[in-house]
Amino acid sequence: MEKLIITVAPTGNVPTRNSDPSLPLTPDEIAEDVYRCYQAGAAIVHIHARDENGEPTADPQVFKVIMEKVKLKCDIVIQLSTGARAGKDAAERGACIDLKPEMASLATGSSNFARSVNYNPPGLIKDLAQRMAKNGVKPEIEIFDLSALEYAVFLAEKGLLKTPLHINLVLDVPGSLRGTARNLFFLVESLPAGCTWSVTSIGKSHRQLSALALILGGHVRTGIEDGPDLGDGKPVSNVELVERIARLASVYGRSLATPAEARSILGLP
Ligand code: MG
Repeated sequence: MEKLIITVAPTGNVPTRNSDPSLPLTPDEIAEDVYRCYQAGAAIVHIHARDENGEPTADPQVFKVIMEKVKLKCDIVIQLSTGARAGKDAAERGACIDLKPEMASLATGSSNFARSVNYNPPGLIKDLAQRMAKNGVKPEIEIFDLSALEYAVFLAEKGLLKTPLHINLVLDVPGSLRGTARNLFFLVESLPAGCTWSVTSIGKSHRQLSALALILGGHVRTGIEDGPDLGDGKPVSNVELVERIARLASVYGRSLATPAEARSILGLP
């Protein structure tokens, strides 16, 4: 089986220091935490930025500082978030793409979060996809529902997304597709031929679906962003989460991809 790419999502837009005291918020904290996760086996980091008050921001200046600090410490693959919670439109959400990270997230459909819309209309998706193509940035296609997967395939057929796609299946976001094995199998069976894929499973489903993903040959994302509930009600650090997936990988016979190996698996330059 292909080596396992562990992505760490250390910060996100939702977690707070109250919910998780080890949450990294400032560029220095994020870089230091990412370095420890890299040492524990993470090959990609999915980065969100926070402003000086700890609130989500799409400010490219903040992303730039985080990128520089992470690059000084290690060669982990950097993926920036263009998610719906930090910016209002394509211009704001896509500004960080001009920093030319190796990857950026691209949700190819709208869905509901618990109290807001995961707003990704066609024009915005197209703008972000074109900006990524222009900057040589590989999109990670974020799938919150089957229709978003169909839309990614539709865009690839139109030439707006380059194949093979890299697809992240996101399950158990409250109010969105439930994190069950049946739903995961359904999505995996629906993937286009030749793509690479990973699983992000939120909350209580994190343990089971991460294990299933790596047994099925997919890649795995973990991290405080995903609010993993490990059953003991205790907050958990990003490093502990990466170490946990690394242990599972060893139990199920997957060796871990280094960042260089992840680049080769994903076709990054
Ligand atoms: Mg994110």
